[in-house]
Amino acid sequence: MAQETQNHTLSVSGWAAYDSSGEIKPYTFKRRENGVNDVTIKVLYCGICHTDLHYAKNDWGITMYPVVPGHEITGVVIKVGCNAGKFKIGDRVGVGCLAASCLKCEFCADSQENYCDQMQFTYNGIFWDGSITYGGYSNVIVADYRYVVRIPENLPMDSVAPLLCAGITVFSPLKDNGMLGSPGKKMGVVGLGGLGHVAVKFGKAFGHHVTVLSTSPSKETEAKGRLGADDFIVSTNSQQMQAGKRSLDFILDTVSAQHSLGPILELLKVDGTLVMVGAPDQPLELPSFPLIFGKRSVKGSMTGGMRDTQEMMDLCGKHNITCDVEVIAPDTINEAMDRLAKNDVRYRFVIDIAGRISNI
Ligand code: NAP
Ligand code: ZN
Repeated sequence: MAQETQNHTLSVSGWAAYDSSGEIKPYTFKRRENGVNDVTIKVLYCGICHTDLHYAKNDWGITMYPVVPGHEITGVVIKVGCNAGKFKIGDRVGVGCLAASCLKCEFCADSQENYCDQMQFTYNGIFWDGSITYGGYSNVIVADYRYVVRIPENLPMDSVAPLLCAGITVFSPLKDNGMLGSPGKKMGVVGLGGLGHVAVKFGKAFGHHVTVLSTSPSKETEAKGRLGADDFIVSTNSQQMQAGKRSLDFILDTVSAQHSLGPILELLKVDGTLVMVGAPDQPLELPSFPLIFGKRSVKGSMTGGMRDTQEMMDLCGKHNITCDVEVIAPDTINEAMDRLAKNDVRYRFVIDIAGRISNI
């Protein structure tokens, strides 16, 4: 049973995983009525992030079933609370990973709400009123306006949806590590999936030389063609890996499964940085030699704050950057998730929640 509180009376149709089989089935549940700080959004599209798969299958052991996944949400505002006047009915908006934070700590004050220790996610979180949060695999979402961004008018609502998680998750570490406004760096992207393909597009838009490190030789043509990557290294090919040693300034690792960081670190120049954004359920192998011999750093990054999310969205509007998506109907979510688990997507599934293929 969905947890309900007094004002949770808004009936919503959605799709949920009920157990660790991960199978997604229809689910009707209640959301809170639109509060003073809320906007109610008719959901049009929702991307399928690999994180949704981790949660649906309880990979990380923290799933509260039934879980309604989805944190790459685009839609249209249909109701506005009295404090949420920066939005109006009909606005094209997006909701990403964040549903709530304390709004008082140093991180919230600096719009790094993603690092607030009371931060709650859009799904599988606990909202301020004690209710469990449900994500975008549903026809309506009620969101606090402080965690809602505007979608530029020139961008289509389906292929923009993955920017709300995949986009900001790769934008934020690029910005944090001086890769924005300093073109000409050598950048590596490990794993060419949902996150990775956006990272390649951002890297090119920001003027860098981008090398993809992939386990899938079949992705090379597209990576270098449509996505604009400069180089492609098959990470299981030791000769190619050897040839790439000490060539990169910065690496973003987006891989969803366990792997060794050792050979990847060897590709960094001395003093280079690898940022891990992938979230495998098992610890990664991190040998000391490539770290100490190259004075290299490894750090992590989790999604991004709201100011950066809007900045990224506006930049995408300016440069016309969207994601490469395969739009699916809600009744094929399970097939899409199976294909995502098998690394068979170019490069993001997006659910046509409102049953429309055209853009608004
Ligand atoms: P995805 O679309 O499945 O892409 C992951 C890519 O990793 C695959 O396309 C594949 O690329 C590579 N890969 C898969 N299995 C591999 C293996 N066994 N060994 C080596 N490479 C493998 O997933 P995604 O949606 O981009 O998400 C990636 C990861 O980031 C997930 O763990 C997700 O939970 C996490 N994530 C983190 C954040 C954050 O805030 N830090 C936000 C969103 C997602 P190749 O075929 O090119 O090798
Ligand atoms: Zn995500």
